[in-house]
Amino acid sequence: MFDLGPRHREVREVAREVAAKVEPFAAEADEAVTVHQGCLDALRASGLARYVVPRAYGGHDEVLDPLTIAVVREALMYSSAHLDSMFGMQGVGSYSLSVGGSEEVKQEWLPKVAALDAIAGLALTEPDVGSDLRAVTTTMEVDGDELVVNGRKSFITNGGAADFYCTMVREGDGWSMVLVPADTPGLTVERGADLMAPHILGELTYTDVRVPANHRLGVPGKAFSLMLQTLAVFRITVAGSAVGLAQAALDEAKTHAMEREQFGKPLIELGAVSQKLAQSWTDVEAARAFVYRAAALAKSDPLGHLDYSSMAKVHATEAAAAVVDRSLQTMGRFGLVRGSKIERLYRNARPLRVYEGATEVLLDSLARRLAKGAR
Ligand SMILES: Cc1cc2nc3c(=O)[nH]c(=O)nc-3n(C[C@H](O)[C@H](O)[C@H](O)COP(=O)(O)OP(=O)(O)OC[C@H]3O[C@@H](n4cnc5c(N)ncnc54)[C@H](O)[C@@H]3O)c2cc1C
Repeated sequence: MFDLGPRHREVREVAREVAAKVEPFAAEADEAVTVHQGCLDALRASGLARYVVPRAYGGHDEVLDPLTIAVVREALMYSSAHLDSMFGMQGVGSYSLSVGGSEEVKQEWLPKVAALDAIAGLALTEPDVGSDLRAVTTTMEVDGDELVVNGRKSFITNGGAADFYCTMVREGDGWSMVLVPADTPGLTVERGADLMAPHILGELTYTDVRVPANHRLGVPGKAFSLMLQTLAVFRITVAGSAVGLAQAALDEAKTHAMEREQFGKPLIELGAVSQKLAQSWTDVEAARAFVYRAAALAKSDPLGHLDYSSMAKVHATEAAAAVVDRSLQTMGRFGLVRGSKIERLYRNARPLRVYEGATEVLLDSLARRLAKGAR
């Protein structure tokens, strides 16, 4: 088993305290499609968002540590998907700025991201573009010392709540990134789709949106490198969230199986139920060990270990789906009740296998890497 050192155990304790504070209103937060103030206050007071911003800009670590972020997400997701998303998106939404932003723009935004005084968004997906991001149609042109953006982005987390959106665009024959502050004239946001697991989502329209040239992120035409760097650090952290959710589902099922009796015994003593619980425990521990190991590898060389991050994301999110399904089954009819914790976990588990690389897309690229001799 992969053991956490004292530094990671300490930050996990802080994250668990935040999760415990949120627990009494976690169900309400997970129904929210705007920022839940209780979650925001608890997360802001904890200082945890500093772990997703480099130290030079008000963050905690000189170089972001994927294991720390994964461990925090595991603890937060144990209570609330809204809380986990709020934390995770501060990093996912700002990392291309941390890596590719101009000094002035980094100084302007990153300390606020670290303090949770500004909310970050990452806008890649479009109404007709999902996994195949090379097909993005939003355009950017240089006009003197300004950049002009036109197009639409869809299913954007924090849409309507974010203070800026790091936006992927087509520029000439390449793909570029640009930071667009939310209050820029020409940028409008409509509320996004209602999901089975409610989420802050927005549909963004850019109509002749003009930002100063220093809002460009990274090298013109090389946005994929920035995106890959973001994924290399943050994909593994989604796997951490999956472990937290799976643990919560297992704990729910175990408690129920110990308390409820049928055929004169607690459910946990009935063979099929005990087998399910033991299988889920095995799945959770295996996923956790894999996630921690892949996250630790990602610290030293995130891009070099992206295969392991992808494998861990596939493994942990699929394991979470299996665990939550078995847990619900263990709870019988009570697991089907709207508003029960297991029903919420069941719904919250589902998007994990779709965003930040759908399972099939990741397996497809892993298979190509395998064929090329990766191991
Ligand atoms: C809760 C939530 C939050 C989101 N937040 C954001 C955000 O903040 N910013 C943002 O830009 N986007 C966001 N998205 C969008 C998300 O990134 C996309 O849903 C994801 O990229 C998949 O795209 P798609 O849904 O269009 O599915 P599609 O690309 O249409 O794929 C559908 C299915 O086809 C299969 N498939 C597709 N391509 C392949 C392939 N090459 N090989 C094998 N199988 C394949 C997979 O099974 C996939 O699940 C969010 C989505 C959700 C659900």
